[in-house]
Amino acid sequence: MKNTTSSLKQTTCAYCGVGCGIDVSVSQNNEVTISGAADHPANFGKLCIKGSKLAETITNDGRLLTPMISNKAVSWPNAVKHVAGQLNKVIEQYGPDSVAFYVSGQLLTEDYYVANKLMKGYIGTANIDTNSRLCMSSAVSAYKRAFGEDLVPNSYQDLDNTDLIIMVGSNAAWTHPVLFQRMQRAKALNPQLNIIVIDPRSTPTSESADLTLNLKPGSDTALFNGLLAYLANHKLLDTDFIGNHCNNFNDTLAMAKKYTIEYVAQFCELKQTDILHFYKIFAATDKTVSFYSQGINQSSSGVDKCNAIINCHLASGKIGKLGCGPFSITGQPNAMGGREVGGLANQLAAHLDIENCEHQKIVQTFWQSPKIANKEGPKAVELFNKIKQGQIKAVWIMATNPVVSLPDSNQVIAALKACPLVIVSDCVDKNDTLSFADVKLPATGWLEKNGTVTNSERRISRQRGIMPPAGNAKHDWQIICDVAKAMGFNGGFNYSHPSEIFSEHAALSGYKNQGKRCFDISPLADLSIKEYDLLKPIQWPIKKTNGQTMGTDSLFTDKQFFTKNKKANFIAVEAKLSVAQTSDKYPILLNSGRIRDQWHSMTRTGTTSSLTEHINKPQLSLNPIQAEKLGIKTGDLVTTSSNTGNVILSALLTDHIRLGEAFAPIHWNKQYASNATISNLYSAITDPISGQPESKQTAIKIRKC
Ligand code: SF4
Repeated sequence: MKNTTSSLKQTTCAYCGVGCGIDVSVSQNNEVTISGAADHPANFGKLCIKGSKLAETITNDGRLLTPMISNKAVSWPNAVKHVAGQLNKVIEQYGPDSVAFYVSGQLLTEDYYVANKLMKGYIGTANIDTNSRLCMSSAVSAYKRAFGEDLVPNSYQDLDNTDLIIMVGSNAAWTHPVLFQRMQRAKALNPQLNIIVIDPRSTPTSESADLTLNLKPGSDTALFNGLLAYLANHKLLDTDFIGNHCNNFNDTLAMAKKYTIEYVAQFCELKQTDILHFYKIFAATDKTVSFYSQGINQSSSGVDKCNAIINCHLASGKIGKLGCGPFSITGQPNAMGGREVGGLANQLAAHLDIENCEHQKIVQTFWQSPKIANKEGPKAVELFNKIKQGQIKAVWIMATNPVVSLPDSNQVIAALKACPLVIVSDCVDKNDTLSFADVKLPATGWLEKNGTVTNSERRISRQRGIMPPAGNAKHDWQIICDVAKAMGFNGGFNYSHPSEIFSEHAALSGYKNQGKRCFDISPLADLSIKEYDLLKPIQWPIKKTNGQTMGTDSLFTDKQFFTKNKKANFIAVEAKLSVAQTSDKYPILLNSGRIRDQWHSMTRTGTTSSLTEHINKPQLSLNPIQAEKLGIKTGDLVTTSSNTGNVILSALLTDHIRLGEAFAPIHWNKQYASNATISNLYSAITDPISGQPESKQTAIKIRKC
């Protein structure tokens, strides 16, 4: 019988922070066909290979289809009653700080909103943190320090309209492919456009660069401090912008002065001529975007690195104009949405400050909640430490796999084993974290979930529920609200549709004007279900002008920032290398990251056979000179050990890696290879401000098996 297709619906990709729009049609036989959405401003019809294979992941195989307590199937009412009863019991006995949620940038904004509301407004603690802590929390802290709020100034259209893109700590060709293709198109149309790649490795991204700086791992702050000093020494500063719109320039420059070209060359292990070439291009190019990602953020000095980049944009006035700005790119599909609703342990909803009494009052009054968290909660690594130490006795992990993604996975396992109550809600029935769950709650997956996400350029898009939930799976927001009501919190969780949660989130963003803060989407507060369903992608902040709802592409065009005196802050930062340095025992520095065709712990991409054709096993990339000394050839199995653990990987010799360094992908875990979980090798070293773990640098030794 001939299949007739359903009408086309648009949703967004389940993977990276580019947030590509996807057109979906489902046949009467439930066959799913997808293509890039031509009218979505994030991708204009393009998809990368991961996104284009999403339809192949739509299957009930491997799905968690029913709630389980102690690995026995139970009904939803029993599961909800059990979870609520157990959480209440722990809170009654040990207080609110004895329970925690660990959530995810894979959740939709509506899921995130109610999880945050339950923990911060009803249970009354900030014991909620997210795997987005591992992705972009350093960028959040740096933006707040510089601009007074967590604000990404840029839009993707800046990449189409610039003359210089500086890619720092980003292999976008593999990690954010659709944006990388956009940059390549911009370069084809504009031969003046220079692309400079700053990365310890030579990557597929650097293949098309005009200049690549393979700097010493972790030395980025020195390179940008040197740029600031160079601009000052050569009278290339935008003195009007600095004088009229910035604070703290003199102290910052005083700190940067020692970063001469000679000093930077030595610190960063770069040639002076290459450094000078970079500085001259930056100084000569008015329209400049710095595009940075996990190579900057995932560092024990990630916040300082971000501020060193921002300082150079402020010093040269390269901000608030088309084609200019410091642009942090998020890793996950909804890392930004989590920031909006206060998914981080150090934030309240609507970008409000958790330790600000006025902000606490705004949120509590709006929610009419019995409590409000008034101090920062533990950030991801600290949260799991508290579980291990017995201070947190019940944890609910939602849509994430911390055993694979957090550093020092043996300690995470020890924490989960020690925790009296581990609840995991997920759409899959097996992963390394679910093995430790006392309660498993089946959540809906991509094409079933219904709500919103926000991509790296502040663009809110709909993810639409196009397929029915698999088995007895429920939406995360429904599970959280059912548990909240069963805990006795009736008033705040009576939602029947995600549009009601979105409306509330939007209304809170404009409630009492909040001292004219930037995050405001309140014109979307009154959407009907139909309007919500039809919502077109839109960038916040959102205004209503002459009856028209308008988004905002670029921030700071009026040169007004969100500090007390409306000026941007220079931040004086000193370059600090990671404490994870080599020694006689561990003489090689390991870097880690994503490969082109896999996503995080492979729960979805690992099921698509065509995505294993690119790289089909966990590899350790090594410099050939290094490998020769160790008697290692491509294809040899090597035991890779650090002071926290060891893994077995297949050696790949490449001169794209600096001598004394190595690289391994983050994706493989117990489900796909017996001993290849890279987080095993990383100590839980974090940035002192953002709490983001150092996931790019650990000292290892290598031995042929
Ligand atoms: Fe999905 Fe990112 Fe690929 Fe776009 S670039 S299709 S959002 S993985």
